[in-house]
Amino acid sequence: GASEGGGGGGAKGPRFSDLGGMQSVINELMMEVVVPLCHPELPLRLGVRPVAGILLHGPPGCGKTTLAHAIANETGVPFYKISAPEVVSGVSGASEENIRVLFKKAYRTAPSIVFIDEIDAIASKRENLQREMERRIVTQLMTCMDEFHQNVGSDGGDLDSQSSEKKPGYVIVIGATNRPDAVDQALRRPGRFDREISLGVPDEIGRKQILKMLTQNLTLEKDQFDLFKIARATPGFVGADLKALVDKAGNLAMKRIIVERKKQSGGGDLNNKQDWWRHPWSEGE
Ligand code: ATP
Repeated sequence: GASEGGGGGGAKGPRFSDLGGMQSVINELMMEVVVPLCHPELPLRLGVRPVAGILLHGPPGCGKTTLAHAIANETGVPFYKISAPEVVSGVSGASEENIRVLFKKAYRTAPSIVFIDEIDAIASKRENLQREMERRIVTQLMTCMDEFHQNVGSDGGDLDSQSSEKKPGYVIVIGATNRPDAVDQALRRPGRFDREISLGVPDEIGRKQILKMLTQNLTLEKDQFDLFKIARATPGFVGADLKALVDKAGNLAMKRIIVERKKQSGGGDLNNKQDWWRHPWSEGE
């Protein structure tokens, strides 16, 4: 349930410019997360405590995961991901160890991001926790976050003292959930998840902005494409729904071109491989 990736090394992935309808959220994140990740010495010098954890909440498909990846790609810092449901389903004991090892790595490579997807799966309110294992995982998570909290502002929090390059150990933990109410109160306090950002279902303007991002690399028919009209017709759609819509439209456009070519070349069988040879992509553009 734990993995690393993204971040440094110029890895390709989503950027802020790929997300629509989130400008105010991105502006906030710039000051609260991007600045301390890019200039970890700054909060230390000013004696300001940077945000330890951000809880992103919103319905499925509204862009929580994409946003977390975008922060990593914008800042170029290492990105470590924990999938909470996978951790819970793991072998007892191994999962706590996984979390510990992952956080240790994150400290060692700080500044960095730890992303915990569907955090409610491990951090649901403890009165609801029936299983001993889940309780232990939450405790482990809190211990890891507190350790960071104690370390930042001291010698930089790099747990590996042999590190040649001593950098301030800023690790930000980003949790994502579509059930914020289910997240343990003990995790939602200063030094742990001390910031909560709600990504709701986008309104009409938000949908238009998302559509604009999603179609920015597409060849659109001039003057025939009214993003406002589509935004107006799609209440309740989140980013993932709009993406599915755009993908579908793209596939239909390809199909239309092929059918048109077939007509122009006087027939042929769309299922016949031979016929595809007769309609190369370079033809009849
Ligand atoms: P889940 O709760 O199901 O994990 P999520 O909130 O993490 O969902 P993502 O996985 O980030 O949502 O989004 C799914 C897809 O929808 C992304 O690949 C992205 O392309 C698209 N998407 C979602 N929100 C936006 C947005 N605001 N702008 C552009 N694309 C978006």
